[in-house]
Amino acid sequence: MKISFLGATKIVTGSNFLIETKNSKFLIDCGMFQGNKSINRMNYYPFSFNPEEIDFMVLSHAHIDHSGRIPKLIKEGFKGDIYCTKATADLCSIMLPDSGHIQEMENEWDNRKRRRSGEKLREPLYTVKEAEDSLRYFKPVLYDQKIELNEEVALRFRDAGHILGSSIIELWIKEDNKEAKLVFSGDLGRRDRPILRDPFLIDETDYLIIESTYGNRLHPPSKDDAIKLISIINTTAQRGGNVVIPSFAIERAQDIIYELNKYYTEYLKTVNQDFLKVPVYIDSPLTVSATEIFLRNSDCFDEDTLKLIKIGNNPLDFPNLKFTKTAEESKQLNTSKESKVIISASGMCTAGRIKHHLKHNLWRKESSIVFVGYQAEGTLGRRIKEGEKVVKIFGEEIQVNAEIYSLEGFSGHADKNGLMWWIQSFKSKPKKIFIVHGEEEATEEICRKIEEELNIEAHIPELGEVLTIEGERILVGEKLKVDRKERENRELKESIKKLKSVFWEVLQRLEHETNNVADIERLNRLRNKLIELQKNILDLNMMLTEGMNKEKD
Ligand SMILES: [Zn+2]
Repeated sequence: MKISFLGATKIVTGSNFLIETKNSKFLIDCGMFQGNKSINRMNYYPFSFNPEEIDFMVLSHAHIDHSGRIPKLIKEGFKGDIYCTKATADLCSIMLPDSGHIQEMENEWDNRKRRRSGEKLREPLYTVKEAEDSLRYFKPVLYDQKIELNEEVALRFRDAGHILGSSIIELWIKEDNKEAKLVFSGDLGRRDRPILRDPFLIDETDYLIIESTYGNRLHPPSKDDAIKLISIINTTAQRGGNVVIPSFAIERAQDIIYELNKYYTEYLKTVNQDFLKVPVYIDSPLTVSATEIFLRNSDCFDEDTLKLIKIGNNPLDFPNLKFTKTAEESKQLNTSKESKVIISASGMCTAGRIKHHLKHNLWRKESSIVFVGYQAEGTLGRRIKEGEKVVKIFGEEIQVNAEIYSLEGFSGHADKNGLMWWIQSFKSKPKKIFIVHGEEEATEEICRKIEEELNIEAHIPELGEVLTIEGERILVGEKLKVDRKERENRELKESIKKLKSVFWEVLQRLEHETNNVADIERLNRLRNKLIELQKNILDLNMMLTEGMNKEKD
């Protein structure tokens, strides 16, 4: 068996692993690279495998850095099933089209620039339509069900406690009458989070591939931050300001709703009555749809949440929670004078309605901005969080006078101690651990801890590294080179196809113009271009003839 590490190596995005057994090839995740320009560009690189040859795919969870290149995979010839949990399939049904919409918008923006500078226009990575078409390949599977995918591979999803539907992937691979077990942690959640169950504890595996996003950090308890949030809402409302919370549409927003609902239920008649008057607006269509999906997948909830449902308390609702759907309703939030909480996307303030709310609240010293998630380098969110005094939003310079808070207790990832606790819970130690999905410092720290404290061999793979497992032997470090020829071949075929489709049309147009054109200079320019083309075709023909003769020799 071979495992190729094709994304999320020494970075946290682009999760993608290729597993090759004797008779099959399949992928774990096919996520988008997210970050600065050079990282984003990697999404446009051709895959280092042929998507037509991949038999099936296993998806750990719906986050775009794990699922975001699925429409591209299908566009380029993948026809297999995509196995995931039902909640993951449901969430992808809103997230992938939303991602398609972002791709179209960003591409249109870039094309406008390209048009002005005379550059060639480009197609988006994929469109809304292509994202919607990819949904029919999803095959939902239940948690804890062991299923045989073919004669060599069996699969089981366990709850990862990271977002709704997120899973740890257990794989059994049979080759030459020997079976090896692999476990992919996926993104691992935290214990005692709202709504979701704790990460499932696995007894044994031969090899473990584990994430390390917070491999060098410790989080404060989420309970403390929930109390802090409520106090921020109260003090902000008392001084007449708004609380603006940039939030990821999935999980983070629902966690906040859940905590606020709990506050309502527990303190409704006893404590601060002011809070009861503050309306909380969810101003993000994607968050509204995601919240509806949460309520359709209550089988993923933890016991506390199920108990609330049993006594008739919808955990994702409370009396002053309001959902805005239209852009008009969203705009009205900024014209009304009453204090309110606005939860809006995107989480890192890079796009969406949140930018309008920041524009209307950042300059007001009575308002508060509360960050509840990771803010990547270079984003508007990061600049505000790091204390910039003036930021540009929609071309306008805005003073930052509002109170800025950052509550990391809402994080959806296990921290350093959480990762170590989970690895220690294996009843028999894995033979080797591979560390992915973390920045370099985080992967190195957790690698050291695993080797020193648990006495298990650990390795941090490079991008493109191929790991071969033959019986008990593991060969680490062989760099991926096999598919380079294949990839170039595919690109060549693609060019031929494109050229064929335009060639005759161009010749016909040329013919048409030669009959009608009056301008002698234009006629000359056309003639020169045609001579260049003729020469290129003759050269190409010569190259092909040479190739044929070489074969005969
Ligand atoms: Zn995730």
